[in-house]
Amino acid sequence: MNTYHIHIGGLVQGVGFRPFVCRLAEQMKLCGWVSNGKDGVHIEINASAEEAEVFYNSVVQSPPPNAIISSHLLTQTGEHPFENFVIRNSDNTAQPDLLLTPDLAICKNCRREISEETNKRFEYPFTTCLECGPRYSIVTGLPYDRENTTMSDLKCAAVARLSIIIFITEDITAKPTHVLTAAFPFIYMTIMALKFPMTLKVFY
Ligand SMILES: [Zn+2]
Repeated sequence: MNTYHIHIGGLVQGVGFRPFVCRLAEQMKLCGWVSNGKDGVHIEINASAEEAEVFYNSVVQSPPPNAIISSHLLTQTGEHPFENFVIRNSDNTAQPDLLLTPDLAICKNCRREISEETNKRFEYPFTTCLECGPRYSIVTGLPYDRENTTMSDLKCAAVARLSIIIFITEDITAKPTHVLTAAFPFIYMTIMALKFPMTLKVFY
């Protein structure tokens, strides 16, 4: 089985790109990894030439809605057998060459969730997901990983930033490794704790 490397450049971080690649690899039963780098997203897969071409075309032609791909390259590398498909730790060695992801307005799914009475995020106006919410406002470095955002040290943030706190929450509809943001202005959080204790519980 050959090993292929894919490099995707552009606005590809903080937009759900790695979970998207993971799902695609799992659908195609391909093993390998995906990682953020300072110059974009890197992927390696074990695949036949035909599978690699199909996978590559799917990534490039149907990326997450907020992604903007400015460059892409598929190359065959030396053989590296993988046992599953994982999100790897970021590679910080390359020179920064990346489009910064802006803060993204609420998406239609989140808008629907906050208007459904039976939804646990009903009327919670700071609901966000993999496709929307704060990005540029919370980034402190590259690549876009939790460690390089204001979410890296929640306890410090809670003490030092009384105006706005960003909490990590697990995306309960996806794999536990896929984290996303939920914005909690501090005062509002207190009000919400009284009004919707079950809602807040979801975020911890
Ligand atoms: Zn959303």
